[in-house]
Amino acid sequence: MSKEVEKERSMILQKEMIAGLFNDLSTAGDTGKKVVYTFGPGNLSELILAFDMLPVYPEINALQSGMRKMSGNYIREAEKYGHSEDVCTYVKCDIGMMLSGNIGPTGKKLPDPDLLLLSYTGCFTFMKWFENLEKLYPGVPVAMLHTPYQESGKITPEMTEYMVKQLKEEVIPKMEKVSGKKLDAEKLNKVIQNSIETEDLIVKIFDTTKNIPSPIDAYFAGVYYIGPINIGFRGTREAVEYYSELLKEIEYRVENKLGPVTPEGEMEERFRLVIEGPPNWTSFREFWKLFYDHGAVVVASSYTKVGGLHDLGFRHSTEHPLESLAEYCMNCYTNLNLNQRISLLSKFVKDHYADGLLVNSIKSCNSFSAGQLIIMRKIEEDLEIPVGFIESDLVDPRYFSYSNIKNRLDSFFQMLEQRRVISNQTEVVQ
Ligand code: SF4
Repeated sequence: MSKEVEKERSMILQKEMIAGLFNDLSTAGDTGKKVVYTFGPGNLSELILAFDMLPVYPEINALQSGMRKMSGNYIREAEKYGHSEDVCTYVKCDIGMMLSGNIGPTGKKLPDPDLLLLSYTGCFTFMKWFENLEKLYPGVPVAMLHTPYQESGKITPEMTEYMVKQLKEEVIPKMEKVSGKKLDAEKLNKVIQNSIETEDLIVKIFDTTKNIPSPIDAYFAGVYYIGPINIGFRGTREAVEYYSELLKEIEYRVENKLGPVTPEGEMEERFRLVIEGPPNWTSFREFWKLFYDHGAVVVASSYTKVGGLHDLGFRHSTEHPLESLAEYCMNCYTNLNLNQRISLLSKFVKDHYADGLLVNSIKSCNSFSAGQLIIMRKIEEDLEIPVGFIESDLVDPRYFSYSNIKNRLDSFFQMLEQRRVISNQTEVVQ
């Protein structure tokens, strides 16, 4: 039987923060707080906080429903309503949850939105998703922020200008109207200052996986670590406190050469991996255990950059607040072109001393899956490391085949093991 992990202070802090947010949401009708439905990638957390609004993230609701084994029923509800099997399962899970009463993870009903803030970042499905929400919540205003794709591999001044114009003419005026407040520039800058501190901390946290052994798993545990920064706390003092505490705990593990903590207990590192693609949520713990059983630690992943990429130096700015909001959105992982993704993943492999790259291809997510085979081939050729490929889905339990994934992973780890034996033999001969 697996052991229960003793909760560290950071875990308790995170639990309290999230419980507080859901409590505020459940009492929004009484307190008069306005509610914004929006997305994780390209989230405008700083503006939402500056207007004292509360965020709801439909994708986060979907992944939490997946982890609580409720997504299968919600997806069936949405399919009965007419959504096809090929639609992104986050969308179907979210719509099914709404059709079933919109009960949030704490068992309380989530409030209806006062504003649908569509930050369109790299994924066309976002647009279709919010078209559906617009129909489900007739009369609720929609503010759309269109983020230009990094087709040429860089952010030009024109792209930033285009986004700032939308912030000034579309997003902020709608937020002012719904909240009944004018944007307070000083308050926004205080929030941004907290964001900068949080961003510095999260980069240091994910950098600790350069240590051998890695003190954390940057994918399975990493998805918990990116929670606060992506779901409305970036910009708060609570987030700064949470990430400071987390960093302290991880630094203790580095000093004492301790491996990652997992639901099965502490892990002994055998292989170091980089993973491309989101995890499966419906069988998250079984999925993690497949890696634990082989001593495979994930030292970096693209998924933990989906809500924002700070590793290459981007920070929000109090000197150019709106420009930095724009650049933040354009820097999200799904808004990068294929070459940028390849170069980022290659950097992760090299900087974090990874033994191999594994792709988890998600059936319903085109935004991640498109080009994954090209990414694999290029990295395999350039870095001469083993690459592996598995397939699953985000929240549709029908597409998680335990035995298929296990077989493929077993072969992949065998390949890594053989390579290790060969390189040890070569060292002995030399
Ligand atoms: S297709 Fe992928 S990126 Fe787009 S909404 Fe669905 S899960 Fe998110």
